[in-house]
Amino acid sequence: MPIDKIRILIIDDDANLSKTLSDILQAKGYETFTAKNGGEGLSFLKGTPVNLVLIDLGLPDIPGLEVLEKVTADFPSAKAIILTGNATLDSAIEATNRGAFSYLLKPYDLDQMLIHIKRALEKQEAEAENARQSDRLRTINAELNALYEVSLSASQTLDLRELLSNVLHSITKAEVFPLETKAAIFLADEQKLHLASFVGLSETELEPCFEIPMGKCLCGLAMTTGEILVSKNSKDDPRHSICHPDVVPHGHIVVPLKTLNKFIGVLSLYIKAGIDISEGQIKLLSSIGNQIAIAIGNARLYEETKISSLYDPLTGIANRRFLQIQLDKSLEAAQRYSQELSILMIDIDHFKKYNDQYGHSEGDRLLVKVAEILSREVRRADCVFRYGGEEFLIILPGTGTSSASEVAERLRKAVEHDTSVAISLGIASLPSSVVKMDEFIAYVDKALYRAKQKGRNRIEIANQEDFDSTEKLFEIQDYPKRCILPKL
Ligand code: GH3
Ligand code: MG
Ligand code: MG
Repeated sequence: MPIDKIRILIIDDDANLSKTLSDILQAKGYETFTAKNGGEGLSFLKGTPVNLVLIDLGLPDIPGLEVLEKVTADFPSAKAIILTGNATLDSAIEATNRGAFSYLLKPYDLDQMLIHIKRALEKQEAEAENARQSDRLRTINAELNALYEVSLSASQTLDLRELLSNVLHSITKAEVFPLETKAAIFLADEQKLHLASFVGLSETELEPCFEIPMGKCLCGLAMTTGEILVSKNSKDDPRHSICHPDVVPHGHIVVPLKTLNKFIGVLSLYIKAGIDISEGQIKLLSSIGNQIAIAIGNARLYEETKISSLYDPLTGIANRRFLQIQLDKSLEAAQRYSQELSILMIDIDHFKKYNDQYGHSEGDRLLVKVAEILSREVRRADCVFRYGGEEFLIILPGTGTSSASEVAERLRKAVEHDTSVAISLGIASLPSSVVKMDEFIAYVDKALYRAKQKGRNRIEIANQEDFDSTEKLFEIQDYPKRCILPKL
């Protein structure tokens, strides 16, 4: 509790002396209090903090030394000066050894007394300032620690789900905030906030807030105003409009999440109803909100980059890198569950001539058109990839050779009908012998090559001869696991 005026308590059973002393000190601008025995003095201190206590050694109830011990132990921010007559001088010296600032001999020399009091108060103020500084440092340290912990948890992953969960756990654990272990992050689209992650919330608490319209309830409001919003009690705050009636009263701090140029969502924290939040805590939460928003932005960018690296920018269909991932999965599934699997390799006939005749841009447009036709003509479960320049590959899960031939013929006809070019196609179906992905592609390529050789605009099915002549690849796992490679 801050003290406006310097307060001095005089504990002395000599009422006249106390009064004189008190008048003198008041005339010097101090606020004074008097107690006529030790018990009264100590109970006064419990309710009123003072800067200095003047303690007479010869008190009627408790010995002055004991009063001093209690004062230094229970009210360490107050200084104590001992008042004593000559007869108890040794005890007064003993008292200074036990923590009293100094002692004054009765009758007092006024100037000397005021000097003692002034010095004791200077010491008291210096110590109080030190304590305030340490408190401030402790708070700053705890705040920096919270910021560090949340930033660290946000930087440990680029996976958005994991990131949101990490952030919620670390922030609800930060001791610098009086938070409940309940929190949620909402991410925004054009119209609404969507619940993206939560910690510690029950189904009842979550039920009304999977989606929150912009401007509605605390989260929607924080999102539209862009300001941190503190609500002390859900029961009497009309802004807290979306809340299940069975949920116990609680408070909220809602932090908008802002990247460089836009708000992307909000962090909704729970506090006990009625709790005060300081300006410093709000400022810190604002910094933490910025860190979280940046981390979310990075995770999204990574996700987009990852996705865009798997798609062909010209035609928009999956590219060769995606093919490798997908074909590997399809092969494993087909082999494990003994399912059929076919692939089609497709190449535009005389595409070079087409480019030469109509120009490269027109050639690009044709590639887009062919990709559209192929995608349109296959089932949802089939995947179309741009394999290379004017070559496409289609995975047909659960499809044997004869069905694959029907698909291939449908595609050939569709391209012939919808464009001014033709395509050649190779078909390969998973043989019973184990095939690696690269072998499978080399195998279907043989069939396509034969289609080209036999005059183009046609379909060829890979046969046993193609399979036998396909170079067989070893997988590194075929070798003993712990074999040591010789140094060359
Ligand atoms: P074939 O019937 O034997 O397949 O003959 P082709 O001319 O289609 O095959 P070739 O391999 O000789 O030429 C393929 C051409 O495809 C050459 C290349 O410039 C062109 N090409 C590859 N990628 C693209 C692309 O992205 N856009 C355009 N416009 N042309 C491309
Ligand atoms: Mg080609
Ligand atoms: Mg070609």
